[in-house]
Amino acid sequence: METLILKGKPVSSKIKEDLSVRISVLKSKDIIPSLAAIIVGNNPASKLYVSSKAKTFAKLGCYSEVFELESNIDKDALINFIQNLNKNKKFHGILLQLPLPKHLDEKEILQIIIPEKDVDGFHPVNQGYIMQGNPKFIPCTPLGCLKILDYYNINVEGKDVVVIGRSNIVGKPISSLLSQNFSYGNATVTLCHTRTKDLSLYTKKADIIIAAVGVPNLVNRDMIKKGAHIIDVGINRIEDNSREKGYRVVGDVNFNDVLGKAASITPVPGGVGVMTVTMLLSNTVEATFNQTKEE
Ligand code: NAP
Repeated sequence: METLILKGKPVSSKIKEDLSVRISVLKSKDIIPSLAAIIVGNNPASKLYVSSKAKTFAKLGCYSEVFELESNIDKDALINFIQNLNKNKKFHGILLQLPLPKHLDEKEILQIIIPEKDVDGFHPVNQGYIMQGNPKFIPCTPLGCLKILDYYNINVEGKDVVVIGRSNIVGKPISSLLSQNFSYGNATVTLCHTRTKDLSLYTKKADIIIAAVGVPNLVNRDMIKKGAHIIDVGINRIEDNSREKGYRVVGDVNFNDVLGKAASITPVPGGVGVMTVTMLLSNTVEATFNQTKEE
Protein backbone atom coordinates (compact mmCIF):
# COMPACT_ATOMS: atom_id res chain seq x y z
CA MET A 1 0.00 0.00 0.00
CA GLU A 2 1.31 3.43 -0.87
CA THR A 3 1.04 5.75 2.08
CA LEU A 4 -0.29 9.21 1.29
CA ILE A 5 1.74 11.95 2.95
CA LEU A 6 -0.63 14.51 4.43
CA LYS A 7 1.40 17.68 4.04
CA GLY A 8 0.22 20.73 5.92
CA LYS A 9 1.41 23.29 3.34
CA PRO A 10 -1.35 22.91 0.71
CA VAL A 11 -4.02 22.91 3.43
CA SER A 12 -2.54 25.99 5.03
CA SER A 13 -2.18 27.77 1.64
CA LYS A 14 -5.83 27.14 0.81
CA ILE A 15 -6.95 28.47 4.18
CA LYS A 16 -4.72 31.54 3.82
CA GLU A 17 -6.20 32.19 0.38
CA ASP A 18 -9.70 32.17 1.86
CA LEU A 19 -8.55 34.27 4.81
CA SER A 20 -6.99 36.93 2.58
CA VAL A 21 -10.43 37.55 1.06
CA ARG A 22 -11.93 37.97 4.54
CA ILE A 23 -9.04 40.19 5.62
CA SER A 24 -9.57 42.47 2.60
CA VAL A 25 -13.24 42.87 3.58
CA LEU A 26 -12.09 44.10 6.99
CA LYS A 27 -9.42 46.34 5.48
CA SER A 28 -11.99 47.98 3.23
CA LYS A 29 -13.51 49.21 6.51
CA ASP A 30 -10.08 50.27 7.84
CA ILE A 31 -10.00 47.35 10.26
CA ILE A 32 -6.79 45.34 10.61
CA PRO A 33 -6.96 42.06 12.54
CA SER A 34 -4.54 42.55 15.43
CA LEU A 35 -2.99 40.18 17.90
CA ALA A 36 -1.25 40.91 21.20
CA ALA A 37 1.29 38.18 21.99
CA ILE A 38 2.67 38.02 25.52
CA ILE A 39 5.90 36.25 26.39
CA VAL A 40 6.89 36.00 30.04
CA GLY A 41 10.59 35.36 30.60
CA ASN A 42 13.40 34.51 28.29
CA ASN A 43 12.50 31.13 26.80
CA PRO A 44 14.19 30.94 23.35
CA ALA A 45 11.65 28.41 22.02
CA SER A 46 8.77 30.72 23.03
CA LYS A 47 10.46 33.62 21.26
CA LEU A 48 10.89 31.53 18.13
CA TYR A 49 7.23 30.45 18.14
CA VAL A 50 6.00 33.99 18.65
CA SER A 51 8.25 35.42 15.93
CA SER A 52 7.01 32.82 13.45
CA LYS A 53 3.43 33.76 14.36
CA ALA A 54 4.26 37.46 13.85
CA LYS A 55 5.75 36.73 10.41
CA THR A 56 2.62 34.88 9.27
CA PHE A 57 0.44 37.75 10.44
CA ALA A 58 2.60 40.31 8.63
CA LYS A 59 2.57 38.30 5.38
CA LEU A 60 -1.22 38.38 5.33
CA GLY A 61 -1.29 42.11 6.15
CA CYS A 62 -2.39 41.63 9.75
CA TYR A 63 -0.87 43.25 12.81
CA SER A 64 0.76 41.62 15.79
CA GLU A 65 2.65 43.10 18.68
CA VAL A 66 4.87 41.13 21.01
CA PHE A 67 4.99 42.10 24.70
CA GLU A 68 8.03 40.68 26.46
CA LEU A 69 7.58 40.68 30.22
CA GLU A 70 10.19 39.97 32.89
CA SER A 71 10.35 36.37 34.10
CA ASN A 72 9.91 37.51 37.71
CA ILE A 73 6.75 39.54 37.05
CA ASP A 74 4.29 38.96 39.87
CA LYS A 75 0.87 37.45 39.32
CA ASP A 76 -1.09 40.66 39.95
CA ALA A 77 1.04 42.69 37.56
CA LEU A 78 0.55 40.09 34.81
CA ILE A 79 -3.20 39.94 35.46
CA ASN A 80 -3.36 43.72 35.30
CA PHE A 81 -1.40 43.71 32.04
CA ILE A 82 -3.81 41.24 30.45
CA GLN A 83 -6.85 43.11 31.73
CA ASN A 84 -5.60 46.26 30.00
CA LEU A 85 -5.24 44.32 26.74
CA ASN A 86 -8.77 42.96 27.23
CA LYS A 87 -10.02 46.57 27.25
CA ASN A 88 -7.75 47.77 24.44
CA LYS A 89 -9.85 47.91 21.26
CA LYS A 90 -6.72 47.90 19.12
CA PHE A 91 -6.28 44.16 19.75
CA HIS A 92 -8.84 41.58 18.69
CA GLY A 93 -6.88 38.58 19.93
CA ILE A 94 -4.59 37.92 22.88
CA LEU A 95 -2.10 35.10 23.06
CA LEU A 96 -0.21 34.14 26.17
CA GLN A 97 2.77 32.04 25.10
CA LEU A 98 3.20 28.96 27.29
CA PRO A 99 4.96 27.73 29.32
CA LEU A 100 4.92 30.40 32.03
CA PRO A 101 7.60 30.61 34.73
CA LYS A 102 6.89 28.21 37.60
CA HIS A 103 5.60 30.84 40.07
CA LEU A 104 2.66 31.61 37.76
CA ASP A 105 -0.35 29.28 37.54
CA GLU A 106 -1.13 28.87 33.82
CA LYS A 107 -4.74 27.84 34.35
CA GLU A 108 -5.40 30.84 36.57
CA ILE A 109 -3.74 33.34 34.22
CA LEU A 110 -5.32 31.96 31.04
CA GLN A 111 -8.76 32.65 32.55
CA ILE A 112 -8.00 36.37 32.62
CA ILE A 113 -8.06 36.69 28.82
CA ILE A 114 -11.70 37.43 27.93
CA PRO A 115 -13.23 34.57 25.90
CA GLU A 116 -13.94 36.96 22.99
CA LYS A 117 -10.19 37.59 22.55
CA ASP A 118 -9.07 34.06 23.46
CA VAL A 119 -7.88 33.13 19.97
CA ASP A 120 -5.88 30.19 21.35
CA GLY A 121 -9.14 28.68 22.65
CA PHE A 122 -7.69 27.86 26.07
CA HIS A 123 -10.24 29.74 28.24
CA PRO A 124 -12.54 27.39 30.20
CA VAL A 125 -15.57 29.10 28.62
CA ASN A 126 -14.31 28.30 25.11
CA GLN A 127 -13.37 24.78 26.18
CA GLY A 128 -16.85 24.42 27.67
CA TYR A 129 -18.45 25.46 24.37
CA ILE A 130 -16.50 22.65 22.69
CA MET A 131 -17.76 20.14 25.27
CA GLN A 132 -21.32 21.29 24.61
CA GLY A 133 -20.93 20.84 20.86
CA ASN A 134 -21.14 24.58 20.19
CA PRO A 135 -17.52 25.62 19.61
CA LYS A 136 -16.52 29.28 19.35
CA PHE A 137 -12.72 29.29 19.36
CA ILE A 138 -11.17 25.87 18.85
CA PRO A 139 -7.53 25.57 19.99
CA CYS A 140 -5.27 26.04 16.95
CA THR A 141 -3.60 22.60 16.84
CA PRO A 142 -6.80 20.49 17.08
CA LEU A 143 -8.42 22.84 14.56
CA GLY A 144 -5.43 22.32 12.24
CA CYS A 145 -5.87 18.54 12.56
CA LEU A 146 -9.54 18.81 11.60
CA LYS A 147 -8.65 20.94 8.58
CA ILE A 148 -6.10 18.37 7.43
CA LEU A 149 -8.64 15.54 7.73
CA ASP A 150 -11.18 17.60 5.83
CA TYR A 151 -8.77 18.71 3.06
CA TYR A 152 -7.64 15.14 2.36
CA ASN A 153 -11.22 13.83 2.50
CA ILE A 154 -10.61 11.54 5.43
CA ASN A 155 -14.11 10.98 6.69
CA VAL A 156 -14.29 10.47 10.45
CA GLU A 157 -17.99 9.63 10.78
CA GLY A 158 -18.52 6.20 12.30
CA LYS A 159 -14.77 5.57 12.41
CA ASP A 160 -12.82 4.25 15.38
CA VAL A 161 -10.44 7.00 16.40
CA VAL A 162 -7.73 6.65 19.01
CA VAL A 163 -6.32 9.86 20.45
CA ILE A 164 -3.11 9.40 22.44
CA GLY A 165 -2.56 12.22 24.93
CA ARG A 166 -5.12 14.11 27.02
CA SER A 167 -3.74 17.64 27.28
CA ASN A 168 -6.17 20.57 27.41
CA ILE A 169 -4.61 22.08 24.31
CA VAL A 170 -4.63 19.06 21.99
CA GLY A 171 -5.84 15.63 23.15
CA LYS A 172 -8.97 16.57 25.10
CA PRO A 173 -10.40 19.11 22.63
CA ILE A 174 -9.76 16.94 19.56
CA SER A 175 -11.31 13.88 21.20
CA SER A 176 -14.34 15.91 22.23
CA LEU A 177 -14.72 17.49 18.78
CA LEU A 178 -14.45 14.21 16.88
CA SER A 179 -17.05 12.55 19.07
CA GLN A 180 -19.66 15.33 18.71
CA ASN A 181 -22.62 15.20 16.37
CA PHE A 182 -20.97 17.48 13.75
CA SER A 183 -20.13 17.09 10.10
CA TYR A 184 -16.49 16.61 11.19
CA GLY A 185 -17.42 14.41 14.14
CA ASN A 186 -19.55 11.34 14.84
CA ALA A 187 -16.49 9.17 15.37
CA THR A 188 -16.14 6.66 18.17
CA VAL A 189 -13.24 8.05 20.14
CA THR A 190 -10.94 6.36 22.63
CA LEU A 191 -8.66 8.65 24.61
CA CYS A 192 -5.40 7.02 25.75
CA HIS A 193 -2.79 8.28 28.22
CA THR A 194 -0.02 7.04 30.49
CA ARG A 195 -2.41 4.91 32.56
CA THR A 196 -3.73 3.08 29.50
CA LYS A 197 -2.84 -0.55 30.23
CA ASP A 198 -2.09 -1.70 26.72
CA LEU A 199 -1.87 1.12 24.20
CA SER A 200 -1.41 -1.12 21.18
CA LEU A 201 -4.65 -2.97 22.00
CA TYR A 202 -6.45 0.25 21.07
CA THR A 203 -4.20 1.57 18.32
CA LYS A 204 -4.33 -1.75 16.42
CA LYS A 205 -8.09 -1.40 16.03
CA ALA A 206 -8.09 2.28 15.10
CA ASP A 207 -9.13 3.59 11.69
CA ILE A 208 -7.56 6.91 12.62
CA ILE A 209 -4.80 7.57 15.17
CA ILE A 210 -4.08 11.01 16.52
CA ALA A 211 -0.84 11.06 18.48
CA ALA A 212 -0.27 14.08 20.74
CA VAL A 213 2.13 12.66 23.27
CA GLY A 214 5.63 14.13 23.19
CA VAL A 215 7.40 10.73 23.07
CA PRO A 216 9.56 10.26 19.95
CA ASN A 217 8.56 7.32 17.73
CA LEU A 218 6.15 5.88 20.32
CA VAL A 219 3.83 4.39 17.70
CA ASN A 220 5.35 1.81 15.35
CA ARG A 221 4.26 -0.46 12.51
CA ASP A 222 3.18 -3.31 14.79
CA MET A 223 0.82 -0.98 16.66
CA ILE A 224 -1.32 0.07 13.71
CA LYS A 225 -3.79 -1.67 11.48
CA LYS A 226 -3.31 -1.77 7.72
CA GLY A 227 -4.94 1.24 6.10
CA ALA A 228 -4.99 3.42 9.21
CA HIS A 229 -4.80 7.20 8.85
CA ILE A 230 -2.34 8.86 11.19
CA ILE A 231 -2.18 12.45 12.40
CA ASP A 232 1.11 12.98 14.20
CA VAL A 233 1.01 16.07 16.40
CA GLY A 234 4.24 15.35 18.29
CA ILE A 235 7.24 17.60 17.93
CA ASN A 236 10.28 15.98 19.53
CA ARG A 237 13.96 16.75 19.24
CA ILE A 238 16.26 13.75 19.13
CA GLU A 239 20.03 13.75 19.06
CA ASP A 240 21.48 13.49 15.55
CA ASN A 241 25.14 14.25 15.17
CA SER A 242 24.91 14.06 11.40
CA ARG A 243 22.99 17.34 11.52
CA GLU A 244 24.68 20.68 11.98
CA LYS A 245 22.41 21.49 14.94
CA GLY A 246 23.13 18.13 16.56
CA TYR A 247 19.47 17.13 16.59
CA ARG A 248 16.49 16.51 14.34
CA VAL A 249 12.79 16.82 14.88
CA VAL A 250 10.58 13.73 14.83
CA GLY A 251 6.98 13.00 15.70
CA ASP A 252 5.34 10.55 18.10
CA VAL A 253 4.99 8.03 15.29
CA ASN A 254 7.86 6.18 13.67
CA PHE A 255 7.27 7.64 10.22
CA ASN A 256 9.48 5.35 8.10
CA ASP A 257 8.32 2.26 9.97
CA VAL A 258 4.62 2.80 9.24
CA LEU A 259 5.10 3.70 5.56
CA GLY A 260 3.48 1.08 3.34
CA LYS A 261 1.09 -0.03 6.10
CA ALA A 262 -0.67 3.23 6.98
CA ALA A 263 -3.03 4.68 4.38
CA SER A 264 -1.83 8.17 5.20
CA ILE A 265 0.28 10.10 7.69
CA THR A 266 1.21 13.69 8.46
CA PRO A 267 4.98 14.25 8.31
CA VAL A 268 6.96 15.86 11.13
CA PRO A 269 8.01 18.51 10.36
CA GLY A 270 5.70 19.69 7.59
CA GLY A 271 2.35 18.35 8.81
CA VAL A 272 0.29 19.59 11.74
CA GLY A 273 2.91 22.13 12.86
CA VAL A 274 2.42 24.11 9.65
CA MET A 275 -1.28 24.42 10.44
CA THR A 276 -1.12 25.75 13.99
CA VAL A 277 -0.05 29.31 13.15
CA THR A 278 -2.51 29.48 10.24
CA MET A 279 -5.34 28.55 12.56
CA LEU A 280 -4.26 31.25 15.01
CA LEU A 281 -4.60 33.74 12.18
CA SER A 282 -7.97 32.26 11.28
CA ASN A 283 -9.23 32.57 14.87
CA THR A 284 -7.94 36.16 15.05
CA VAL A 285 -9.77 37.11 11.84
CA GLU A 286 -12.92 35.49 13.28
CA ALA A 287 -12.49 37.44 16.53
CA THR A 288 -12.05 40.65 14.53
CA PHE A 289 -15.30 40.10 12.64
CA ASN A 290 -17.12 39.33 15.89
CA GLN A 291 -15.81 42.45 17.62
CA THR A 292 -16.41 44.87 14.75
CA LYS A 293 -19.83 43.75 13.52
CA GLU A 294 -21.38 47.19 13.99
CA GLU A 295 -18.54 49.13 12.29
P1 NAP B 1 1.38 17.19 27.23
O1 NAP B 1 0.57 18.28 27.85
O2 NAP B 1 2.73 16.89 27.75
O3 NAP B 1 0.50 15.86 27.26
C1 NAP B 1 1.05 14.65 26.82
C2 NAP B 1 -0.01 13.58 26.95
O4 NAP B 1 0.55 12.36 26.47
C3 NAP B 1 -0.46 13.33 28.38
O5 NAP B 1 -1.86 13.20 28.41
C4 NAP B 1 0.22 12.02 28.76
O6 NAP B 1 -0.55 11.23 29.62
C5 NAP B 1 0.32 11.34 27.42
N1 NAP B 1 1.44 10.41 27.37
C6 NAP B 1 2.75 10.63 27.65
N2 NAP B 1 3.49 9.53 27.48
C7 NAP B 1 2.63 8.56 27.08
C8 NAP B 1 2.78 7.21 26.75
N3 NAP B 1 3.98 6.60 26.79
N4 NAP B 1 1.69 6.50 26.39
C9 NAP B 1 0.47 7.09 26.33
N5 NAP B 1 0.27 8.38 26.65
C10 NAP B 1 1.34 9.11 27.01
O7 NAP B 1 1.58 17.43 25.68
P2 NAP B 1 0.86 18.36 24.57
O8 NAP B 1 1.04 19.77 24.95
O9 NAP B 1 -0.49 17.84 24.25
O10 NAP B 1 1.83 18.04 23.34
C11 NAP B 1 1.99 16.73 22.86
C12 NAP B 1 3.00 16.75 21.72
O11 NAP B 1 2.49 17.56 20.69
C13 NAP B 1 4.35 17.35 22.08
O12 NAP B 1 5.35 16.71 21.33
C14 NAP B 1 4.23 18.78 21.62
O13 NAP B 1 5.48 19.37 21.30
C15 NAP B 1 3.39 18.62 20.39
N6 NAP B 1 2.60 19.79 20.02
C16 NAP B 1 2.65 20.14 18.72
C17 NAP B 1 1.91 21.22 18.29
C18 NAP B 1 1.95 21.57 16.84
O14 NAP B 1 1.74 22.71 16.48
N7 NAP B 1 2.19 20.59 15.97
C19 NAP B 1 1.15 21.96 19.19
C20 NAP B 1 1.08 21.55 20.52
C21 NAP B 1 1.82 20.45 20.93
P3 NAP B 1 -0.89 11.65 31.16
O15 NAP B 1 -2.00 12.65 31.05
O16 NAP B 1 -1.31 10.39 31.78
O17 NAP B 1 0.36 12.25 31.71
